[in-house]
Amino acid sequence: MSVVKQLYQLQEVDLELESKEQALNQITSQLGESEAVVGTRNKLALEHQRQEELSRQQRSSEWEIDDLTGKLVTIEEELYSGRIRNPKELANLQHEADTFKAKRNQLEEKALEIMDQVELTTKSVANTDSELKTLEAEWQDQQQQLSAQLEQLKTALSNLKHKRQLLTAEIDPQAIEVYQELKKQRGTAVAKVEQGICRGCRISLPVTELQRTRSGDLVRCSSCGRILFLA
Ligand SMILES: [Zn+2]
Repeated sequence: MSVVKQLYQLQEVDLELESKEQALNQITSQLGESEAVVGTRNKLALEHQRQEELSRQQRSSEWEIDDLTGKLVTIEEELYSGRIRNPKELANLQHEADTFKAKRNQLEEKALEIMDQVELTTKSVANTDSELKTLEAEWQDQQQQLSAQLEQLKTALSNLKHKRQLLTAEIDPQAIEVYQELKKQRGTAVAKVEQGICRGCRISLPVTELQRTRSGDLVRCSSCGRILFLA
């Protein structure tokens, strides 16, 4: 096998190595926490907090209403007991009872508002909870798939590295040096020749260059410097 063909094979292996390494990096960056899951988890925690705060408000408004009802019962007992005959004192008591009733009405309205909010928050918690479960399941599936892909890539990479070692062992070290230098400078070191054109720079090659390339010698394109490979 000509040295140019060997170098071309080396380049194929190198390209595959690069693309597999890129895929590996991409997968590695996708492994780990998911923003969507973390965001939804935080949202649920806030909604739970809101739920607790509301039930605290609900309890305290119930206590206030009970307290006022107790006071009202006492006042009304006093009012209708017949023990108080002084009109001014009766009027005062009546006024006090009216004030408590108005306050109790207010509190009852507020209690209804809180109940509405409790209902809304409970619905919202249920929605977010099911959203989170779906997201977590999807994320877990995705992570499992990524881990499997990662393992496959690692195996493929290790096989390619081994193949590369075997290839380079057979190639003239000086030719490898030229190849590495060109790879560094141009990205690709070996250019295919098709219809007399260097595919590296798309320039028509002089006849003498083509003839030397045909013989299998290591010939470099006079325009871009790449090693010419005639398939
Ligand atoms: Zn060229």
